[in-house]
Amino acid sequence: MKDLSNENVIQLNKNGLSYLQFKKLSEYPEIYHLFSLKPADIAALSTWEEKKESALADVRNMQMVLDAEDADVCRPCQTHSDHIKTVEAEDAGIYDESFEDTDGLVTGLPGKFLLLGFGDCTPLLFYDPVHAAVGNIHSGWRGTCQRIGAKAVKAMEDAFGSRPDDLICCIAPHIRKCHFEVDEDVYLLFRNEFTDFADFEKLVRFEPERNKYYIDTTALNIRMLENAGLKPENIIDSGICTVCHSDMVHSYRADKAASGRSAAVIGLKMKP
Ligand SMILES: [Zn+2]
Repeated sequence: MKDLSNENVIQLNKNGLSYLQFKKLSEYPEIYHLFSLKPADIAALSTWEEKKESALADVRNMQMVLDAEDADVCRPCQTHSDHIKTVEAEDAGIYDESFEDTDGLVTGLPGKFLLLGFGDCTPLLFYDPVHAAVGNIHSGWRGTCQRIGAKAVKAMEDAFGSRPDDLICCIAPHIRKCHFEVDEDVYLLFRNEFTDFADFEKLVRFEPERNKYYIDTTALNIRMLENAGLKPENIIDSGICTVCHSDMVHSYRADKAASGRSAAVIGLKMKP
């Protein structure tokens, strides 16, 4: 099996689960996290009913691997919104109604297993080691266009008193500029949003023969996090494209409607 390990992430296998972890987040024993690789598949909302049994088995296996079997799984109904929910003690469940129309979860409570599904969209995993708070954010292209990453920083400031220069943000595998091909309509949505980025056009490659645009959403996310006050050295990019590595990572562009979902997980361990 190929190994996606690089300077920022390490590929591991335990209990039959292949997954990535960020070296930076692994420095903190009080949290757990992972990004799952194929064949684990936590299923999209649209395929949940048909895949429920195997998806639940994969989620339970992830909890076992992370030694978080007692934690409450919190899985929102992701809708490409910019809605971020602070998870409280009573919040738990997979697609529970308290998680409707939600694309980001943040919490300062131990024992909450923040679980989001990804098939090309950008996972942003946040940790504030000073205030012991975590966040898991789904920043697809629509979310990126709505600056959900910067809104997550604000949500953590409001909920936990987090200071941006304490925050760590790890960017898990997602579709990158090499494969994020869009038509003019989507390109214009980005251009009209990011007018404050004077060099926006440098983040775009245009193919005139095919009239297609390739947008560097990775750079947009990094830039908006820096502008929100994160230190550049605390923004860690996995550097992995889901389409380039669709043999190992779920990709909607590569696998089409049958596509599964990779899991990004983060949580605070229970106090002993
Ligand atoms: Zn690629």
